[in-house]
Amino acid sequence: MATLADFRAEKPNWCPGCGDFTVLAALQKAAANIGLEPEDMVTVSGVGCSGKISQYMGSYGFHSLHGRSIPVATAVKLSNTDLTVVAAGGDGDGYGIGIGHFIHALRRNIDITYIVMDNHIYGLTTGQTSPTSDKGTKTKTAPDGSTDEPVHPLQMAIMAGCGYVAQGYSGNLKQLTELIEGGMKHKGFSLINIYSPCVTFNKVNTYDFYKQTLVNVDEDPSYDKTDRFAAIKKIEECDEHLTGLLYHSTEKLPYHEANSNFPSTPVVKADINLDQENWGKL
Ligand code: SF4
Ligand code: MG
Repeated sequence: MATLADFRAEKPNWCPGCGDFTVLAALQKAAANIGLEPEDMVTVSGVGCSGKISQYMGSYGFHSLHGRSIPVATAVKLSNTDLTVVAAGGDGDGYGIGIGHFIHALRRNIDITYIVMDNHIYGLTTGQTSPTSDKGTKTKTAPDGSTDEPVHPLQMAIMAGCGYVAQGYSGNLKQLTELIEGGMKHKGFSLINIYSPCVTFNKVNTYDFYKQTLVNVDEDPSYDKTDRFAAIKKIEECDEHLTGLLYHSTEKLPYHEANSNFPSTPVVKADINLDQENWGKL
């Protein structure tokens, strides 16, 4: 049986203190806790600092194009439904260029776990306004402050019918591990948006900022995670300054079970040799 060490690959080269370290650690712990073997899991990433996660995770991995982690992850899952598939990226990658894929995967209920390292900025390209930057945030591309309303991923996910909507924070590894684990076990599309501070280029959305502003719904016994309208109301009231499992429903079947034209056995055989000379035969 695989251990946590089996899910560790290359040593990350993110900036010291980057929130993405915790996200990687949580993903590795979640995979080990569930009892997965590294070869049963595929981590597909987009482009950005967070996109390196597929290289650092000790599973099969695919570092795809900018904003394209979801379509690649969809293809992997539908080719072999036995696999546990995680798509991962940042707010710029997923909610900018990739937002169309996000919406369609939500409505199709593809059985993948989508992990977004949301630092409210473009980190890899050294600090530009991103789709989740708060209105008024000053960056290189908006020196007088952003004039745009930010994208609201939690609201979008719930409204599009997502059955597992959670938000984590890189300052809480234990909770984040539990949220990712729950997302990986959920049958259908799961979103875990993660406040993952960019310590180098975002001096507003810092660890201190989140410590002071975040409300943890997992600590509120009166919060009903199965009540969709309560979740929408809570997200609206708290301006998304929330952590925890916000909504969970198992009512909808995942795409590959709801559509009988998908085979239950793998389309791509697990024992296929993925050496370069075999690529054309897949
Ligand atoms: Fe992390 Fe920001 Fe450094 Fe990128 S630039 S590795 S997001 S701290
Ligand atoms: Mg970002």
